[in-house]
Amino acid sequence: MEIAQNTPLDFIKTRAYIARHSYIEDMENKLTSFEKKMLAKDFKVHWASTEDNLSDLIYNSLPEKAYNKVCFDIPVIPENLAHIKAIKPIPLKDLENGEKEASIIITQADFAIVETGTLVLLDKGCRNCLNRVNNLFVILDISKLLSKASDLETILYLKTFYHSNNYLPSDIKLISHPYHKIDKNVIQHEGEYDKQRVEITIFLYDNGVTHIMEDKKLRDALYCIDCGNCKTVCPAYEYTKEFTPIELVRANCWEKERQNGNLFKNTMLCGNCDHACPVQIPFTDLLIKEMEMVHGKEGKSNLAKIFEKRKKLNKKSNSFSRFFFDKKMYGKNKMLHNYFKQSKDPFFNVTWLQEHAEKKDE
Ligand code: SF4
Repeated sequence: MEIAQNTPLDFIKTRAYIARHSYIEDMENKLTSFEKKMLAKDFKVHWASTEDNLSDLIYNSLPEKAYNKVCFDIPVIPENLAHIKAIKPIPLKDLENGEKEASIIITQADFAIVETGTLVLLDKGCRNCLNRVNNLFVILDISKLLSKASDLETILYLKTFYHSNNYLPSDIKLISHPYHKIDKNVIQHEGEYDKQRVEITIFLYDNGVTHIMEDKKLRDALYCIDCGNCKTVCPAYEYTKEFTPIELVRANCWEKERQNGNLFKNTMLCGNCDHACPVQIPFTDLLIKEMEMVHGKEGKSNLAKIFEKRKKLNKKSNSFSRFFFDKKMYGKNKMLHNYFKQSKDPFFNVTWLQEHAEKKDE
């Protein structure tokens, strides 16, 4: 391990930021290079733009005879795929304990390394079954690649730092080459392995990433390494359980989502996430930019109202006046009301608000 246990955290965060910058800002070239490496290794590669497109590609890549032998190990099955009656998924636990057999596992990679052409799977439920199927389908978000193998160590360190005292995830699968299927009932002899190779298909999933890339500011949201730290410090998420800060920012990159009004209901612009994010995603700036997009030219006056509420609230140190203020301002919004009721300290990142309010006044 290159990172010593006593390496300062700020140093590791800077390394992580540089690692993400090096990939995101050169994504097009890096993706092309990654695809070439995977094809050279005899992996199949498909490009999926939207969720519907991903569903179609996966469906069309399934051998017909295997429709009832698919095992999903992904957080959410794409809607179109889930509704296809011909597909009868095998529960992962049945595959794991050997009760049923599957022909295909569909999972997703957490990262991939461009330099070595490697897929990185962390703590997957299907980890013990990868060599018991004929086909492995891997979905890979195109923003989750890393330029170099050494970047992975930095990212993994940070991901685990915020979750537990463990230095690394308990299971890391690196897939760099095709591998062989193992049939528990058959003793393999030399020379038979070629017939048993597991076919690996990668679905490079855009899911709006290239759209976000077009906006220089919103692009920062793609630096995320999924450490989950912004979620743990977000008071709005604690009550709504709807959007973590990064989910809120990414959802509102699309105009349709912005008009749904979830933006104003799911943030207090407290700035906690700005400080918590190891790869320096400027959440408050991004959320304000998105708020301005909602209201066009009038956006600034709406923002001024929000700031005004935040500032006033911070001044309410006495619990009695706090109670009335809270009721008047946020009584109808249960989530915010509950939050303010319990809080005793200043709620907001006042320094940030003051600095930005001054800049806006200039
Ligand atoms: S956006 Fe949130 S989950 Fe992503 S790296 Fe920053 S703190 Fe971690």
